[in-house]
Amino acid sequence: MFNLFGNNPNKILRKYEEKVDRIKLISSEMKEWDDLEVQTQTKKFKKRIQEGSDINALLPEAFATIKEACRRVLHINLFDVQILGGIILHEGNITEMKTGEGKTLTSTLPAYLNALTGSGVHIVTVNDYLAKRDAEWMGQIYSFLGIQTGLIQQNMDAANRKINYNKDITYVTNSELGFDYLRDNMAIDKDDIVQRDFNFCIIDEVDSILIDEARTPLIISGPSDIPNNQYITSNTLAQKLIVNQHYEIDEKAKNIILTDEGIIFCENFLQISNIYQIESPWAQYILNALKAQELFLKDRNYIIKDNNVVIVDEFTGRIMPGRRWSDGLHQAIEAKEQVDIQNENQTLASITYQNFFLLYHKLSGMTGTASTESPEFEKIYKINVVSIPTNKTCIREDLPDLVYKREFNKWTAIANECYDMYKIGRPTLIGTTNVEKSELLAKLLKEYGLPYNLLNAKPENVEKEAEIIAQAGQSKTLTIATNMAGRGTDIILGGNAQQFSKLIILQSIKDYFIHEQKLQIDNYQPDQEIKRYLKNMISALKQKKIFDHMTNEDILSYTELNLLDTQELQYNQIDIIKTTYNQVFSLYDKIFSLDRKQVIECGGLHVIGTERHESRRIDNQLRGRAGRQGDPGSSRFFLSLEDNLLRIFGGDKILNLMETLNIDDEVPIESVILNRSLDNAQKKVESYYYDIRKQLFEYDEVLNNQRQAIYAERKRILHSTYVRDCLLEYGENTIDEIVDFYYQEYNQQLAQYNTSREKQIHKKIQVILNLPSEIVVNLLNDMGEREVKSFLYEQFRITYDLREAYLEQLRPGLVRQLEKYYLLQQIDTAWQEHLEKMANLRESIGWRSYGQQDPLTEYKNEAFGLFINMITYIRETVSYFIMRSRLVIDPEKVM
Ligand code: ADP
Ligand code: MG
Repeated sequence: MFNLFGNNPNKILRKYEEKVDRIKLISSEMKEWDDLEVQTQTKKFKKRIQEGSDINALLPEAFATIKEACRRVLHINLFDVQILGGIILHEGNITEMKTGEGKTLTSTLPAYLNALTGSGVHIVTVNDYLAKRDAEWMGQIYSFLGIQTGLIQQNMDAANRKINYNKDITYVTNSELGFDYLRDNMAIDKDDIVQRDFNFCIIDEVDSILIDEARTPLIISGPSDIPNNQYITSNTLAQKLIVNQHYEIDEKAKNIILTDEGIIFCENFLQISNIYQIESPWAQYILNALKAQELFLKDRNYIIKDNNVVIVDEFTGRIMPGRRWSDGLHQAIEAKEQVDIQNENQTLASITYQNFFLLYHKLSGMTGTASTESPEFEKIYKINVVSIPTNKTCIREDLPDLVYKREFNKWTAIANECYDMYKIGRPTLIGTTNVEKSELLAKLLKEYGLPYNLLNAKPENVEKEAEIIAQAGQSKTLTIATNMAGRGTDIILGGNAQQFSKLIILQSIKDYFIHEQKLQIDNYQPDQEIKRYLKNMISALKQKKIFDHMTNEDILSYTELNLLDTQELQYNQIDIIKTTYNQVFSLYDKIFSLDRKQVIECGGLHVIGTERHESRRIDNQLRGRAGRQGDPGSSRFFLSLEDNLLRIFGGDKILNLMETLNIDDEVPIESVILNRSLDNAQKKVESYYYDIRKQLFEYDEVLNNQRQAIYAERKRILHSTYVRDCLLEYGENTIDEIVDFYYQEYNQQLAQYNTSREKQIHKKIQVILNLPSEIVVNLLNDMGEREVKSFLYEQFRITYDLREAYLEQLRPGLVRQLEKYYLLQQIDTAWQEHLEKMANLRESIGWRSYGQQDPLTEYKNEAFGLFINMITYIRETVSYFIMRSRLVIDPEKVM
């Protein structure tokens, strides 16, 4: 791993020791201050920035101010490692801090400092729930210091988004942020733009966003008008093709490859010269028709219901109404089944996370696991990974992997281990790689008569997750979780009393005031005393009529607001909920700390891995759930030679070894030799995925340059109040291009033209710019190239002025609106068509690439050509439309 300081955490500490000490000293002096003095710090800092002070110079004082505010508002003393992490973030790096080290609070330090400039700070989280949680939780510190917090949620309308993006610090998920960016760049009115320019961004769980999610780009799509007959023709054609002669099937990759003979057959059938041509290509349709025919079976992969093709989920066997296979496959199946073919979606805008986050002036991130991926961060994002030592030494014991021959024996062994842990009383977290496997284990545990909680990464379950994770550290608790589940919430030994108290209060208010009008507490909380507290709370709330006339949503946000960590009572009705919280909390805290003692005595949280994941990073993430803040804990991975990783990447060697040693199926091996092979296998998979991401990045980079150019031009137009100049520029460029073309072309291909060059120029110009036909061709004959151009410019301006006068007299101001509208509309349409061409190009390049050429270079060259064509096309059509708008159209409709 590379970073600025080598990778010795102590060295990093030493380098920053002085700075950290200084911050601590300043903040300890601030303890004497009264609240108002602390709060006016923000104004003082802002003033100094206005007077030209650099924010780096303000760092020590600003960090000290946050530290002190945090102490006053949340009653938490920031650890040294958190201050250190904050500095590292401010410097635009990734800080690797283990789970439970308090990254959320760490990020407030650089967020506050960078917010002082007023240019905005974005804090990016993996889901809506965490964005909301962190905004409310950290918002208390910011608001104490007079800094405004914004929050973006999925269902928010544009007006509210804009308000929230204008706040000093905005919490938002990666996908909302990306989609807002794309939507902003499709706005027709500049008032519809919700985001400001990008300044500083802190990505939480940065590896999940920049690595795991970087394989699929963000796409905004809309219905397209592709004619259905291409699907039908391809379906007919597919029935004529012969397997292994015209095409080959790759079952494993669910893929079809056309043979050379097949390609020729198709081209003859369709009477076209190339099925991969960039304008209206056929290959995709044909391949989809073949896939539909060969690989997708009715009543297994899909069913027909109400004349619709409905997907059947591979793992669960459940039908998935409304979901559609992408890239035209669904339509191909519809054609095969002769049901109505539904419209395909067309990409209107797209960007990869890689390129999106590079738009920030300064980018930083934090996660528990980044060092294994540091070369990728370094190469693609130009960002260093710095490991921060833990606050307390981690004493977790990572036990060696156990490898079984058969998968069956592995799962039995896992269930046995769960049983043992349950008997001892240790809480256990079992990580699985997918939903199917977590359900398999759940079934096994049921057979053993063991209670368990099942967590999976489905978005609708994230809030439930908080509840399950809150209790995952209690004794005798078995928690099964898939990959992504529970990120962002940490497991506290003995249970999370805070979280539990909040959840139970929220739940009882939901039950009573929103759903059933009755307390359901018995279902999940038997404690009599707590029940009494909750009952009292409900009757008090009812008596004081606090929720009368509130919508359900208001009831919830009111409750959540009152459950925040602040001790100060800011609102007068607050005490009912707050008091109940304090009562419930102190009781839970008592019960839980007893349990905590027990759990610690028997060894803390035990983590079981059921398979090596596709990268070591994800394994480490799972392991990292145990041993937080110096707690005891352990982890162990159970593997089998039938696991995907071992099967695909070099399990043979190990199998041979096991055969030679004549090892029983039930007996695992635990050996160092194996670990090496395993690590190697995993590294192979890691680099495989890295290559995919790198390739996506390199190809998107080409598109990205074009996207930036188009977006910049669009922005220029959108913000301009006088686009006439822009239009004239487009017209003049068009004239240049036409004149240049004929001057060059004409000499070479004289024979082809039986009219004069000037006539050609005139004809073309006449069509595009709608110039009066009185321009005498003979006039052009007597001029040189440059004169021809200036003459046409002049004619164009005169015609344009006339047109403008005409429109102006119809409705003052209209012409400016029309100009803008035409410009934006043409740019957008052309760009969307361009995106499709680029996608086709990408595909056809992949197909062509077994020649000598480097496909990427080839792609770049052709992409450039396509881009130039698009620009010319935009200029020409804009000029064409604006010069011809006859205004028979209702002007209201235009805007
Ligand atoms: P991470 O994201 O690093 O896994 P969180 O930010 O979710 O961790 O914090 C985990 C818990 O630690 C939270 O409950 C938080 O209140 C607590 N915490 C963070 N910093 C401190 C601190 N300096 N002292 C005490 N508790 C802290
Ligand atoms: Mg976190």
